[in-house]
Amino acid sequence: MSSDKPILGIIGGGQLGSMLCQAAKKLNISTTILTDDLHAPAQNFCDAFVHSDYKDSSALEKFAKTCDYITFEFENIPFEILEQISAITKINPNPNINKIVQNRFTEKNFLKTLGIATTSYTFIKSKIDIEKNQNLLPGILKTCTLGYDGKGQHVISSMEDVKDDWCFSSDYILEKFIDLKQEISVIITRYSDGGLSIFEPIENIHKEQILNTSIIPAKINSEICDEAKIIAKKISEKLKYTGTMCVEFFIDKKNKLYVNEIAPRVHNSGHLTINAFNISQFENHVRAVCGLEKIELQKKSDAKMVNIIGDEINDYRGKLLNKNQFLFDYQKKEIKDKRKMGHITTLLDTKDS
Ligand code: ADP
Ligand code: MG
Repeated sequence: MSSDKPILGIIGGGQLGSMLCQAAKKLNISTTILTDDLHAPAQNFCDAFVHSDYKDSSALEKFAKTCDYITFEFENIPFEILEQISAITKINPNPNINKIVQNRFTEKNFLKTLGIATTSYTFIKSKIDIEKNQNLLPGILKTCTLGYDGKGQHVISSMEDVKDDWCFSSDYILEKFIDLKQEISVIITRYSDGGLSIFEPIENIHKEQILNTSIIPAKINSEICDEAKIIAKKISEKLKYTGTMCVEFFIDKKNKLYVNEIAPRVHNSGHLTINAFNISQFENHVRAVCGLEKIELQKKSDAKMVNIIGDEINDYRGKLLNKNQFLFDYQKKEIKDKRKMGHITTLLDTKDS
């Protein structure tokens, strides 16, 4: 079947990839997913599915040649692979950004150069390094790369929590623990002509370091709201970013704002934008990376999103929902403990709840 639709290649095939495919479909753009996961859920939503080892150069080349535009749905793809693909077809956002944010240490150093507040932190390679930096305790030891949903993190209250048999096989950073009042995120889309589309800050509640609930409006004052948006804008402009990105923030008990981390992609906390706005974070991303025009955001409703973790999904499958509720079942092949299996968004200011 021949088609003259433009083709958007997406590297990675998880739920974020699935939602990007759905947004592209609405814009009459075809999608090809490239993933090394044979069971990747995005295969249920894309137009073409390429299952390949990321080290298979000829498969990467073939994928790159068939796509008009390329993006990714997770930031931990080895940089060399993105570089190889982008030599054939440009990738947006620019993979150089991944080099900075893939590593918590370089990410925080980058924020420091912009004068943006982060938690106090230091690079750690051994127990002695922690001993020398006890001013950062209580703190959290995090692997510099590859952590998500709290994986690869250890809370360290005192030196007694540092076990003698830890081998420090990876690079770590130690972050001082912040006495959190709230967490918020700002989802921002930057278009290649510099146009910006910024969603209002979203308040996020984590359980066991996994995002549980996201709500708009966030219960924050207007100064923090403005400051968070200005910081997100500053980061996206400094990176000359094209696409949607998320900036996660901490707010401490004294109402001081810190950037926690930057996700160079669409983000779990932005799922509620699908139902609460005229344009979702996903549509905004597709529009930006495919060179389409920016459309002004219009909010339709306050909203709350709850992640469905592990076997909680069984309680939702086949359940009747209210008119203001929207269930997203990621259609993952297997139910796994502590794994995001779906989410449910509730619009909060409609009458038929
Ligand atoms: P991940 O990459 O797994 O999302 P984060 O660094 O965002 O890792 O940490 C996950 C969650 O753990 C945060 O959203 C926050 O709730 C908690 N957390 C992480 N670092 C700190 C800190 N320095 N102080 C207080 N809470 C923290
Ligand atoms: Mg996080």
